[in-house]
Amino acid sequence: MAVKTIWPINHICGHHADRDLSDRPADRRAGFAEWLARQECTDCWRASKKGNEQDKVAWLKAKRAEEQDASESWSEQYRMPPLEGTERAVSWGVRCRHQILTAAYTALVTEGETSETEWEGVEESARTVTRAGWWIDQRSSQPDDLTELLQAATGADRPTENPYF
Ligand SMILES: [Zn+2]
Repeated sequence: MAVKTIWPINHICGHHADRDLSDRPADRRAGFAEWLARQECTDCWRASKKGNEQDKVAWLKAKRAEEQDASESWSEQYRMPPLEGTERAVSWGVRCRHQILTAAYTALVTEGETSETEWEGVEESARTVTRAGWWIDQRSSQPDDLTELLQAATGADRPTENPYF
């Protein structure tokens, strides 16, 4: 008698399935059937995979909201003006500005030679750059480069530099 091709599998999730193992060599089917029995059935596997993806999306969303809150309180504390751009660019830009300036403070003041007074100048210059896109563009920059980057920012990045004109 030939080795059967349809194997009844009792999955660990409690579901039963008849699996067609005809695409496996005859001498491997019993071992594969045993392995299958230690797995969840396809439906349960798909459902739990989907649940994990949803968890991940929810986790990322919560993490981003947390970062957003932190960046917004920071902006308020350091009197950083609102950014300009689309709604999405503005929230992203606020997070980038927070991250860029705190990293630069650590590199230049805490670990570097920049004095608090000099840093105030850097902050003052950072306040004039209100185009969200500028901060997003600098998100991968080196903390040491911030001063130079701020100097290079053009009038277009500082739309409110001269509010009285
Ligand atoms: Zn199942």
